[in-house]
Amino acid sequence: MPPFLRTFGTIALLLATIGCQTGSDQTARDGAAGAGAATSSPAAPARGPAAVDAARMMAAGSEPANWPTHGGTYYEQHYSTLDQINDGNIGKLELAWYYDLDTNRGQEAMPLVVDGVMYTTSAWSKLFAIDAATGKEIWKYDPEVIGGKAVHACCDVVNRGAALWNGKVFFGTIDGRLIAVDAKTGKPAWQAVTVDQKQAYTITGAPRVVKGKVIIGNSGAEYGVRGYVSAYDAETGKLIWRFYTVPGNPANGPDGAASDDAMANIAAKTWFGQWWKYGGGGTVWDAIVYDPDLDQLYLGVGNGSPWNHQIRSDGKGDNLFTSSIVAVNPDTGKYIWHYQETPGESWDFTATQPIILADLNIGGRPRKVLMQAPKNGFFYVIDRITGKLVSAEKFANVNWAEKIDLKTGRPVEYPEARYNGVGTFMQPAGIGAHAWHPMAFSPKTGLVYIPAMEVPLTYSPDAHFRFRPGRWNTGINFGTPWTGKVVDPEGKPLTGAAGTSSTETPAGGSLLAWNPVTQKEAWRIRFDHPWNGGALATAGNLVFQGNSSGQFVAYRADSGQKLWSFDAQAPIVAGASSYSVGGQQYVAVMVGYGGSMGIASPLPGKQIVPPNGRVIAFRIGGGAKLPPYTPELRGAAQPPAETFSPAMVAQGAVHYAENCRVCHAGVILPDLRRSGVLADKEAWQEVVIGGVLEPRGMVSFRDYLTPAQAESIRAYVAGEARSLQAEQRTGRAQ
Ligand code: CA
Repeated sequence: MPPFLRTFGTIALLLATIGCQTGSDQTARDGAAGAGAATSSPAAPARGPAAVDAARMMAAGSEPANWPTHGGTYYEQHYSTLDQINDGNIGKLELAWYYDLDTNRGQEAMPLVVDGVMYTTSAWSKLFAIDAATGKEIWKYDPEVIGGKAVHACCDVVNRGAALWNGKVFFGTIDGRLIAVDAKTGKPAWQAVTVDQKQAYTITGAPRVVKGKVIIGNSGAEYGVRGYVSAYDAETGKLIWRFYTVPGNPANGPDGAASDDAMANIAAKTWFGQWWKYGGGGTVWDAIVYDPDLDQLYLGVGNGSPWNHQIRSDGKGDNLFTSSIVAVNPDTGKYIWHYQETPGESWDFTATQPIILADLNIGGRPRKVLMQAPKNGFFYVIDRITGKLVSAEKFANVNWAEKIDLKTGRPVEYPEARYNGVGTFMQPAGIGAHAWHPMAFSPKTGLVYIPAMEVPLTYSPDAHFRFRPGRWNTGINFGTPWTGKVVDPEGKPLTGAAGTSSTETPAGGSLLAWNPVTQKEAWRIRFDHPWNGGALATAGNLVFQGNSSGQFVAYRADSGQKLWSFDAQAPIVAGASSYSVGGQQYVAVMVGYGGSMGIASPLPGKQIVPPNGRVIAFRIGGGAKLPPYTPELRGAAQPPAETFSPAMVAQGAVHYAENCRVCHAGVILPDLRRSGVLADKEAWQEVVIGGVLEPRGMVSFRDYLTPAQAESIRAYVAGEARSLQAEQRTGRAQ
């Protein structure tokens, strides 16, 4: 088993969604940004920049030169009808240009393109306008988010892209703002603070614009927030409606929001206990999809807060609308229908994953459906008109439910799945069988291309749970990094980690081609590492996907045959888009490792420091090349000379698990075993308690730890560093 997979087996990516403070560097690494060489016809906009209106958006499918919204069109199929690049000439596809970014944090955005101008976002909520034919920067805009806000970003300080409307570019920021930028000048036109910034809300998802309203969700369900979606006037930034996804404290009465009736009549009776103390969760952090046929807006709603249903709701009730798709009226935000995928959600099984709209012929008749492959491992086909389930089958290893009952639409659960005892082995787990990575649908092949994952994890209830607002709250114990042991909050190992309802399967990933009509696999490409890029399908019988090995690959869409690849020098997790300028078709994608597994797991192969991200674009005969790249290896272990008492180390292990591991187990943020600060008691205190690295995202933990507890963490990490050092000396670790 490759070393990084052993790491999965042990930490097993508990860190589905974990909060991460230490900024490895917002600005530190090689700040230079600029365009690579390219030659092509210049962009020639026929009208002003970002000239997108309702008519143009509704007809986006007839303008394949543009990619004006998340997923290409309102159907969000991640499919281009362009076929100039195809399975016959793909061998001549070459880099056209590249654009260097100034950070090595995760890059999850999908570039938008209208009239030859590309708009995309990077980690730390920065916005860029780039000539889509040459890669030349037109302008960039940095809203200067506060580094310390990273402590509330469960899954890295990522941003999944922008939206366009009537000469403006809209994007969300990690500190909860929605910003409108003038597409011509790159200057802000308005900004709205969409959240209570004192709470642990963040925004990583892309907004959508529907009929002059900018729709934006938020994140933070692990930190004790209450989810909602807001609609703002695209011209003025005025709030038009808000839809809460879970009920608030009953003592406070109605919210005065669009969701009031749905909360009172549908959701409230499905909650028990004192969920409002924990926020309840239900954040809409990715999928928000407009249906141009039915004039409905679909919201993909996230997990409950905390994850553990016993704590959140006394183990009772469906907890609507967590883990649901909710259809609302885009003009008013009023409820239309909902479908809940995981009632009484208890595992971080979100329904926020990408939603694709399509017309499928099922059982001899055309059906208007939406399709989703959420974290829980079932592929759902849902009737868009009624919200009723059409079909649902497992696309991954699933041990929490036997099947979905088509009559009731509800899962038939295995009772063991609710981890009432110790160490229940879950697959999928919180990372999901599929996360936010775009899946694609080709109407030509009839297949959906899913970046699927197998990332199992052991769950046991946290008997000592106490809610800590603004900190990571699940109500669950997971394995510890480096050792693989499952420990309770006193540091005692638990038994039974090998699972109750399934045998362990190794972590891994797939590009899975799935037939949504027959609900069967068509073909599958397997990867050792789960965390790979989003998919793009094209009419050229191609599927493009970047992967964690740093390759950008084209496959035949009908057969999965690998046709072409490009060494991007760094892992790709984002999804690609396709457009054309001056009669030339391009495919573009963001390069850069990160996101939840970037925080929680190393890169495949050697332990390297991830390089800064890039935008790369390809066309037939592009002729450009990336500059040479020499990987920077991660450093040696730096244990202090001091020794610490076993009791102190054991105490430190507990505090480490509660406060540090969620961010420092991966490769994006510093590995504390290799940190120069570890050997210096005073410097350690200045960072952990004093907060001297707050501008880079590492906030002070003085509200959570005493200086003595911080020192116990140093004692624990020192021991781990000595173990790593021994392995490095014998060549067993790098
Ligand atoms: Ca989550």
